[in-house]
Amino acid sequence: MHAVIIGSGLVGAASALALHQVGIQSTLYDQVDLVQAAIKSGGVGAAVDFGDSGGSVLLASNALRVLKTLGLLDLVLASSFPSEYTTWFKINGTAKIALDAVNVMKSGGETDPALMAPVQILRSRLHNILMQACQKAGIRCYTGKKLVSITEIEIGVVAQFADGSTATGDFLIGADGIHSAVRRQLFGDSCKAVFTGAIGHIGVVRTKENNITLTETCAFYLEREKKQTAWTFKVSEELAAVQVMTFDEPQPAEGEEYRPYSNLPKESTRLADLMASWGVPKHVEEMMRKSFRISPAAIYDLPNLPSYNKGRVVLLGDSAHGMVPNAGLGLLTGLEDVGVLLELFRRFPDQKDLSKVLELYSKIRVPKGHEASQKSRDMAKQYYTGSSNMGHFLLRVGIFLFNHNWIKFGEVYDCPAEVAAAVAAL
Ligand SMILES: Cc1cc2nc3c(=O)[nH]c(=O)nc-3n(C[C@H](O)[C@H](O)[C@H](O)COP(=O)(O)OP(=O)(O)OC[C@H]3O[C@@H](n4cnc5c(N)ncnc54)[C@H](O)[C@@H]3O)c2cc1C
Repeated sequence: MHAVIIGSGLVGAASALALHQVGIQSTLYDQVDLVQAAIKSGGVGAAVDFGDSGGSVLLASNALRVLKTLGLLDLVLASSFPSEYTTWFKINGTAKIALDAVNVMKSGGETDPALMAPVQILRSRLHNILMQACQKAGIRCYTGKKLVSITEIEIGVVAQFADGSTATGDFLIGADGIHSAVRRQLFGDSCKAVFTGAIGHIGVVRTKENNITLTETCAFYLEREKKQTAWTFKVSEELAAVQVMTFDEPQPAEGEEYRPYSNLPKESTRLADLMASWGVPKHVEEMMRKSFRISPAAIYDLPNLPSYNKGRVVLLGDSAHGMVPNAGLGLLTGLEDVGVLLELFRRFPDQKDLSKVLELYSKIRVPKGHEASQKSRDMAKQYYTGSSNMGHFLLRVGIFLFNHNWIKFGEVYDCPAEVAAAVAAL
């Protein structure tokens, strides 16, 4: 069998590696045009257009399990920073609340010590790891391929690109992100991602070089009533990401998201001054001021889709369940998609079972995608509405209950177990 994968971001590249494990060939197609990017930027912009942008992403036990299955765990752990505690503060750095993240994973059933601590990794570094693994496995990636339409034929599916070329596969994976053209082909424009009005400005800073000391690995600074939020994430002894949210700026053009600001001195000063006016701790403000790259991330919410499959096409990652990223669940849910598809193909490798695999994939993943999206929306409400003091107090009570195992976050998602249960119920 051969799969056409649209989108060579984190989930697309991970999907190609998963299919490779079960002997299914695939080819990646991404709209990013490296040649045009290099021409536009005088030779230095190509990497920026294809992943060398953005800030950090969270990998918890469920996602680390999938990366372990793909044979990438050691490399990912060596390239990331463990985040044993998640902390929340009032905007000025007082009234600390700490969630014992290792305990959450343990109480969720994680028994492998290597997977217990969630890690933060630069999105660009993770993309690089996945793309290099694809290259090693002989998986081809074509850039400058913007999908415009999909046609199902009797023996497969044909993808048509804006440059007039086509690609044919036995099935097609849509891993083309929040503005997915594959999703539009399946469900029409009614399933468009909706801009929430929020923009996260994500900086990456060399902490050591700038003498910035970070005592917390993962920290959120909040003033709910004024909708003021800043985050910091440590990704190595030398590097960290910092983010500030704004709610009064125009929506960036589609495709411009995550593209680093070209006028860095202007943007770093503007954002650091804004944070200083809120009264954030000095080191947080300095992190933004000294960032060597700042990328805007427009925050979208995607309506819940009724299905992630139609005919020979399936949706994975943000194309299926792009979500407001407050809970850090977007990539975790996308990697679970990859793990489930891999397990299904392990059980049903025959071409005659293809439609069963794709339908089962959707049946297993849709409820999980809806649940993760709702959790993210609830978290957004927790951050941006309600009274500051009461909100912080309620958060403290909730975290206390988690730390003492009086309430549970839920079981760590296990792809083989989920697939086994779904197959047993057939
Ligand atoms: C450059 C970049 C930087 C990011 N940085 C961060 C970050 O710092 N923090 C964070 O939390 N999230 C970040 N994200 C989002 C994050 O990667 C996703 O939310 C999550 O990882 C799910 O990944 P995905 O592969 O489903 O989608 P994405 O990572 O968005 O990948 C989708 C891919 O599909 C391609 N594509 C889109 N439309 C088409 C089309 N019509 N035809 C062909 N290809 C298409 C895109 O070029 C992209 O490479 C970033 C995304 C991008 C693209």
